[in-house]
Amino acid sequence: MELAPRHTGSSERTMVSSVAPPPEKMMFQLSLRRRGISDRAVLQAMEAVPRDRFVDPVHRDGAWRDTALPIACGQTISQPFVVAYMTEQLRLEAGHRLLEIGTGSGYHAAVLSRLVRDVVSVERFKTLADRARARLKELNYANVEVLLGDGFAIPEGAGTFDRIIVTAAMTELSQPLLDLLDPGGILIAPIGPANGRQTLIRVERKDDGFIRKALVDVRFVPALTGIAREL
Ligand code: SAH
Repeated sequence: MELAPRHTGSSERTMVSSVAPPPEKMMFQLSLRRRGISDRAVLQAMEAVPRDRFVDPVHRDGAWRDTALPIACGQTISQPFVVAYMTEQLRLEAGHRLLEIGTGSGYHAAVLSRLVRDVVSVERFKTLADRARARLKELNYANVEVLLGDGFAIPEGAGTFDRIIVTAAMTELSQPLLDLLDPGGILIAPIGPANGRQTLIRVERKDDGFIRKALVDVRFVPALTGIAREL
């Protein structure tokens, strides 16, 4: 169904078309707000990143709906609400250096890159890493570095991070991963079995240890060890 054109004067028409975002983007923002996302910087970043450019052409029409969608290699681009929620829970600051495990389409990395200084994103599928890198370059997200690698084995040379986000479900957090977090740092990860109950966990590193908090139940593809043999 289409809405009938409104009868407006030409000046008003010009104003409406140049100022108002397309209806699907307005609905997108509205659904994020309704579900409780209130951080303005996060909402702005979500609005600015063209999600339709991160999905396969056959899914473009549905790109602004609040649903996860399939991408190559049997993986998924996360549901926008979950992307916004995890991003908000990270309490990002402009100077942060952030590690993402699970680049997938590169969409979440793009959102994060608008809010922090540097994003390092690791993906175990070569096809996904190459495509995400190319897409992010094309869209001028210059502060994201996409690496082909295993998030369970981040090389020591990568340094430490103010924030870490894991976008594939791990059965448990590992100490080597927690050790990559700077003091004062925050990590968010879905924890749980591949086909069972997964819970989003937030870990804060304090001077004298780690504080762990369960947030909400979620559904993510599993984190698997090693670089994928399949392309
Ligand atoms: N953040 C992505 C969605 C990620 S889906 C986006 O915005 O599109 C989860 C991704 O994690 C998948 O692409 C999967 O291949 C990847 N992954 C799973 N285990 C991994 C590991 N050990 N290291 C790196 N990436 C991993």
